[in-house]
Amino acid sequence: MPFPPRNPLLNDVPRWLEEGAPHLWLPYTQMQTVPMPLPVVKTDGVRLTLADGRELIDGTSSWWTAAHGYNHPHIRQAVTAQLERMPHVMLGGLAHEPVMTLATRLAKLLPGDLNHTFFSESGSVSVEIAMKIAVQFWINSGIKGKKRFVSFRGGYHGDTLAAMSVCDPDEGMHTLFKGAIAEQLITGLPTTPEKEAALDAFLATHAHEVAAVMTEPLVQGAGGMIFHDIETLKRLRRLCDKHNVLLVLDEIFVGFGRTGSMFACEAAGIVPDIVTLSKALTGGTMALAATVARTKVFEAFLSDDPSKALMHGPTYTGNPLACAAANASLDLFEREPRLRQVAAIEAQLRRELEPARSIKGVRDVRVKGAIGVIELEAMSNLDGLKRRFVEEGVFIRPFGKIVYTTPPLVIGEEDLARLTAAMLKITAEAALR
Ligand SMILES: *Cc1c(COP(=O)(O)O)cnc(C)c1O
Repeated sequence: MPFPPRNPLLNDVPRWLEEGAPHLWLPYTQMQTVPMPLPVVKTDGVRLTLADGRELIDGTSSWWTAAHGYNHPHIRQAVTAQLERMPHVMLGGLAHEPVMTLATRLAKLLPGDLNHTFFSESGSVSVEIAMKIAVQFWINSGIKGKKRFVSFRGGYHGDTLAAMSVCDPDEGMHTLFKGAIAEQLITGLPTTPEKEAALDAFLATHAHEVAAVMTEPLVQGAGGMIFHDIETLKRLRRLCDKHNVLLVLDEIFVGFGRTGSMFACEAAGIVPDIVTLSKALTGGTMALAATVARTKVFEAFLSDDPSKALMHGPTYTGNPLACAAANASLDLFEREPRLRQVAAIEAQLRRELEPARSIKGVRDVRVKGAIGVIELEAMSNLDGLKRRFVEEGVFIRPFGKIVYTTPPLVIGEEDLARLTAAMLKITAEAALR
């Protein structure tokens, strides 16, 4: 069994890490060459504390989840109180207050008649459910043959097989998994009037076999933090209406303030037929995802015929602890000035990342809401770069050709300045190599 090589950054390796490392299969990781991961023993606000006592300022919010910072007392109290009353009951035949309250609040918060929520435990599963709903919507409506999906290059929708099929072909490893995942219709986003015309023609050819068009609105996250504008989303809504296909927006990354509005679709003034939410839904505390449908979609499943029901039911659907965390997170979005904080973060990121443009080897610098990106021409030695960030006292995880930050929305000016300074410094070093 390969044992992870020592991480030169670790002063002393705790026993549990030494013992556990050979047994834990890490995400997105070549286990033969991975350095020992950093042992975190405590989190607080925007800081991670390592086993040797060092503190890192977190620039990623744990895969974009910790919107209110770590260990927010309000969420902690809500989860603790729920744990004492009732950690879990199944939703088959039983109901509880946290899940009903959360479904009600999401219906109020989301635009239009996005009023019907199905809960699961991960973003990928919420995408699978959205795809299942879209296909069955047409079957239940008596329209045959609409079973495929149109999605876009640069997109990312999760790691399960159906979600992979709608990812960017490279990201989703479509060549490697050929035959194991469905072949979808992947094309370019309508970012210009010309591209809109191309998609219009594409849909005219394929709409008879298409259940839905799917995209991440405004920012394609895991595919490389690629931005598009609200016009693109308006075009998608128009084209979906014109060609009679559903529009699914995956707001798993962009939802809950990340791009500057509570949901990205609100910025464009459009209402998708189905939306998926996860990541910051519980403020980075518990695993929870939501697939939310408009009334016309929901109503297509109403019938005297049991076979028209949505046959889906994750064991932990609507878990009370996770719903309590999400309700507490929504309290914070109501009570605290999160969107104003995002606007302040956006202004500071623009100001402080702009100088990176003059670094040799930098292709682009871009900022949207609380997302700051430096894109390089090429990036080598990712592990070395990650190590340098830790040496600078920050946690930033570059991927592909980008060095980016998505800090907790509560980050203060000084802490954010340390993140951007580290990004500039280490990008310049990387360019010198
Ligand atoms: C992270 C992500 C997913 C997958 O969510 P998991 O919880 O990792 O399964 C899907 N879509 C988008 C846009 C994401 O960012």
